[in-house]
Amino acid sequence: MHTTLINAAKAAFQSAFQSEPEHIFLSPGRINIIGEHVDYNDGYVLPAAIDKYICFAVKKQQDSETCTFFAADLNESFSFNISEKQSPVGQMWVNYLLGVVDAIQESGKTVGGLQIAFSSTIPMGSGLSSSAALECGFAYILNILFDLQFSKKEIALIGQKAEHTFAGVQCGIMDQFASVFGKENKVMMLDCNSLEHQYYDAQLNGYSLVLFDSCVKHTHLTSGYNDRRKDVEVGKEIIKSHYPGILNFRQVTEEILTELKEDMGDLAYKRCLYLVKEIKRVEEAVKALSENNPEYLGRLMTETHTGLSQEYEVSCNEIDFLVEEALKEESVLGARMMGGGFGGCSINLVKEDQADRISRNIEEKYRKAFGIDMKVYKINISEGIKEYTDNEFII
Ligand code: ADP
Ligand code: MG
Repeated sequence: MHTTLINAAKAAFQSAFQSEPEHIFLSPGRINIIGEHVDYNDGYVLPAAIDKYICFAVKKQQDSETCTFFAADLNESFSFNISEKQSPVGQMWVNYLLGVVDAIQESGKTVGGLQIAFSSTIPMGSGLSSSAALECGFAYILNILFDLQFSKKEIALIGQKAEHTFAGVQCGIMDQFASVFGKENKVMMLDCNSLEHQYYDAQLNGYSLVLFDSCVKHTHLTSGYNDRRKDVEVGKEIIKSHYPGILNFRQVTEEILTELKEDMGDLAYKRCLYLVKEIKRVEEAVKALSENNPEYLGRLMTETHTGLSQEYEVSCNEIDFLVEEALKEESVLGARMMGGGFGGCSINLVKEDQADRISRNIEEKYRKAFGIDMKVYKINISEGIKEYTDNEFII
């Protein structure tokens, strides 16, 4: 189980530090089944941790304040004094780790020296949340090895804070929550306002989740993210001015939006319409899972894609193509863009025994259309961050 990755991390540790690691930790990436762009808009999301991990090989350094990292996949190292005040550095990957140290220092707790080598099967920057796996994995390690007594929720929040302050990414809390709280074969419904969450069985009746990585990221479009936030704010203000009792998007109906459409203008209306429908879709998706109804779940995922593409307008040609092609297949129950948008992965609910054939078919069409080799990730829903020892997880 994950032997190749664990061996790679151990070998990296041995070559970087000429000794054996004392601990192995696995920190997973995540998918989000449905609930896109609602994490910062009063919504619920439905994420799950997956069997793609950053594996950390770790040794505590007694009587030392030096922390040394070896990022095996980048072949880069970084060393710093873990007791000193930190500030962001030029090596981007280091900032996720320094941000964690900074957040822990702010809480008034003390940590000591470490040697860490890490290697990963989570593709970087594809929307599977390698960044949360990195920052939360490290926070989890410090928590265990220095007995800091943080709760899992605090670990997720430390990870988010690190990303905000040191990496400069104003992310929501979903990625960190999924990486820390994931459970095998369960998806979680996370209320992004209260952080309450419930687990649901991921019974997919012979269907599986397959990701198609478009291998594009239109960064010139990502300013669109801030524009979306502005459009939504405009809409929200108008709703509040007519309905002062409404505090968040959960209370808004499509009827209210239709009534206020002229006031809002077309853009704000479309953005808000997407959000209101998406919040409802997540609630329906939970029903679909509870009722063992993957067909309905698939339909909801596809509706989300239509909304993301036409109402929220955060898709791109490559992802629209992957979704359209997938939906031409009878054995695909649903497909949608996953993540922030403008590239990254699509997530597809595909009949298990057809997944290879369909993936190959779409791979070929994508290459013909865009001249790009896409990647296919078959994933299983798995446990959150864990220490791993002698082929067993320690909780
Ligand atoms: P995502 O979280 O969707 O994968 P992000 O852009 O949020 O994408 O985070 C990716 C960044 O996280 C990388 O650019 C790198 O700085 C850091 N990172 C992730 N995985 C690794 C790794 N295996 N080695 C070094 N840095 C990593
Ligand atoms: Mg990220």
